Amino acid sequence: MKVDELLQYDREHVWHPYTSMKNPLPVYPVKRTDGVHIELENGQLLVDGMSSWWSVIHGYNHPALNAAVQKQLENTAHVMFGGLTHAPAVELASRLLSIVPSGLDNVFFSDSGSVAVEVALKMALQYWYAKGREEKRYFVALRGGYHGDTWNAMSVSDPETGMHALFRGTLPMHFFVPRPTSTFGMPCEQEDFMAFQECLRHNHTRIAAVILEPIVQGAGGMWFYSAEYLRKAYELCYMYDILLICDEIATGFWRTGKRWACDHAGISPDIMCVGKALTGGYMGFAATLATGGVAHVISSRSPGLFMHGPTFMGNPLACAVANASLELLEKGYNTIETRVKEIEKRLREELSPLQHLGQVEDVRVLGAIGVVEMKKPVDVAAVQADFVERGVWIRPFGKLIYVMPPYIIQPKELRALTTAITQVIMKYE
Ligand code: PMP
Repeated sequence: MKVDELLQYDREHVWHPYTSMKNPLPVYPVKRTDGVHIELENGQLLVDGMSSWWSVIHGYNHPALNAAVQKQLENTAHVMFGGLTHAPAVELASRLLSIVPSGLDNVFFSDSGSVAVEVALKMALQYWYAKGREEKRYFVALRGGYHGDTWNAMSVSDPETGMHALFRGTLPMHFFVPRPTSTFGMPCEQEDFMAFQECLRHNHTRIAAVILEPIVQGAGGMWFYSAEYLRKAYELCYMYDILLICDEIATGFWRTGKRWACDHAGISPDIMCVGKALTGGYMGFAATLATGGVAHVISSRSPGLFMHGPTFMGNPLACAVANASLELLEKGYNTIETRVKEIEKRLREELSPLQHLGQVEDVRVLGAIGVVEMKKPVDVAAVQADFVERGVWIRPFGKLIYVMPPYIIQPKELRALTTAITQVIMKYE
């Protein structure tokens, strides 16, 4: 198919994330990807600032990850996980369990982040069911949070920026507390925590679990909050006998400067979800981890089983590439940590001056995440085209222009991203 035919067909028949089929935003045809670059069909090379939505942490077309997929392909691309097991899955379980916060001891593999969240919510409900506490069937979530697009993941995502209005009446109702206002690096103000505390105090007998994105709320607004808030939330859950689910799908694998965002607060949740960068961004795959306690309680009352089992559970290709990605991360974790710190330092130096511009509300940086929040919503189509013209791939949403590049990015390429952001913002003053 010629490129213009491809684009025409795409426009008429193919849905892209959050787009209209009637009046879609433009899409750019990709020829290939390599390292930190996306090459378009017209030959233009773009420096990638997005890591394909937090996932491609080692860059594209990585020799070690390619080799892992190829080797696995010669053996088994896929085989069902019901009644069968295989080395790539068991090795991955063992690798993951050796690096996740202490206490997490059992792993459930699934095919996407949203499903990992569904699994986590179901685990919490089955846990209380098995304990004979069926009245504990509500969740508490933070405003500004995002946990995925499937039904229950949607029900615990921000009720305003999410899809609650659209699906009112059919979506399960849960408790929401305000987004934490105490920012990362600062103590948690007592007032800031009050609503959370009151919600748990009044409703703990009905609450199965609190679900939150630790430290960084991603798609709900790229907001970084106080580690002390997270610590307090953890302590209160423990006090009221409520499970804590940490959604590390976006934050895991060093994105925030530590291996897990939970590490900023030194906490270990009862249930944790990982995804996105798990396979180095090679394919959709995720895992839900639970403590031995949660797993054993679930298995202790009839039906005695955890009721979930996707077709592609434990897919060998995904496990093999995830093992290779973890090998890169863990073998060189000192280097990875230093690299992320270096990216953080440069992003801070290069983006902070924008803070003083009239059209900019806030600039914040944490780990390999740099965010410029504008005062007004950004015209995505226009700004996107402008970025492409300047040779970078940055996709804004709402009022946010942000980057989270692959960790392999070099200073010159990072400079290309921050320079483009600066120029585009100055242009739209
Ligand atoms: N949780 C968080 C924190 C996420 O950022 C996302 C994806 N943006 C999800 C869950 C859902 O993951 P997926 O898109 O793989 O279903």
